Amino acid sequence: MRIKAVHTYLLSTAKLSGQTTYEETAGLVLPERAADTSGYRGRLDERHRCVYPRDRSTLLVCVESDSGLRGWGEAHAPVVPRVAQTVVTDLLAPIIVGQDARHIAPLWEQMFSSMRLRSHTQGFTAEAISGVDIALWDLLGHYRQEPVWMLLGGAFNTRLPAYSSGVPGATQEDRLETIEQALAQGFNALKCSCGRGSLQEQMDVVRPLSEAIGTRGRLLVDAHGAFDLADALTFARFLQDLGNVEWFEDPLVPEERDGYARLTEGTPGLRIAMGETECNRYGVRDRLLNRQCDVLLPDVCRAGGISETWRIAQLADAFGIGWASHVSISTPLHLAAGLHVGAATANFLVSEYPSHFAESPLGPALCRRAPTPQKGSIEVGDEPGLGVELDEARLAELTLAQQTISV
Ligand SMILES: [Mg+2]
Repeated sequence: MRIKAVHTYLLSTAKLSGQTTYEETAGLVLPERAADTSGYRGRLDERHRCVYPRDRSTLLVCVESDSGLRGWGEAHAPVVPRVAQTVVTDLLAPIIVGQDARHIAPLWEQMFSSMRLRSHTQGFTAEAISGVDIALWDLLGHYRQEPVWMLLGGAFNTRLPAYSSGVPGATQEDRLETIEQALAQGFNALKCSCGRGSLQEQMDVVRPLSEAIGTRGRLLVDAHGAFDLADALTFARFLQDLGNVEWFEDPLVPEERDGYARLTEGTPGLRIAMGETECNRYGVRDRLLNRQCDVLLPDVCRAGGISETWRIAQLADAFGIGWASHVSISTPLHLAAGLHVGAATANFLVSEYPSHFAESPLGPALCRRAPTPQKGSIEVGDEPGLGVELDEARLAELTLAQQTISV
């Protein structure tokens, strides 16, 4: 099965508001700068704050075989998605076009090695590789007429738990209502954010959410790297005392490797979770060797796709650590790819399901068939590949830029 062509589709919700070229929509929401320094802003300053996009964007990759079979993948690309598209089109597609699509592992190594001397381990390169790799697995599934989880060695489970990520609401009342809705939908785990304001202010935000859930579920708390070690230790003790906190996510910036090890060691009663920024087995190995977390959160559309996420999961299992699939601004291809690896790994814990996902134009609306939560879990079925069927008309409505490299 030779690879005849690689197609890329840059999707953006900006297209829905009438914009037709990427240049019109390259707007970014920049972090607040230091102009307002009044009051307590946390121990870490604005240096570590990320840029966010104004619109929702992602990059889909389609690998087409010489017999016309197609496999779809996704590269996480919420910010400047043209970079990921260029990496796929100009770098990765020329490497794999013409080769046998079944040799996914060697193709992965060729893509990974292509920039070995020039930074290749994470970021745009890893995200672009993820998109191609996922498309290759989906293609192989269609070729073999088997689901990806079967190609990976079979399923430990095909119904996988999901948690509702994000507790949106303008007021605390709204947020409590959001919690009730999620619990009513059958989710028994919800993730909220913290990290803004003083420690006391953050405690005042998180405590009522925890109390509202009570014994009906578990709360996951994501700090987006907002703490230093001392505050993280204090906040972790507070979370542990709440009694229903499942994990404390990204308390420190990812560069604070020693801090993560000390925090994990210093909070035996609370799980420290991190790993969405860790994009290959080598980085994960180093974090596991001195136990920098209790739960790993690889993102299949950033961490080298299905191939590398599977390797990361196996590596984590050797250290007695479970993993949860990170999902954010993306399509059901992302959700499904993480779930298939989850189904095929013994140490899978849970998949993220963003609270905005169901209503997002990039969500189920983009598909004729997509994985859907029911009572807090998601079934991955027997359909070939990822089991996701895109709606070509909706795809066209959201595509701002399409490129093809072929033999
Ligand atoms: Mg997070």
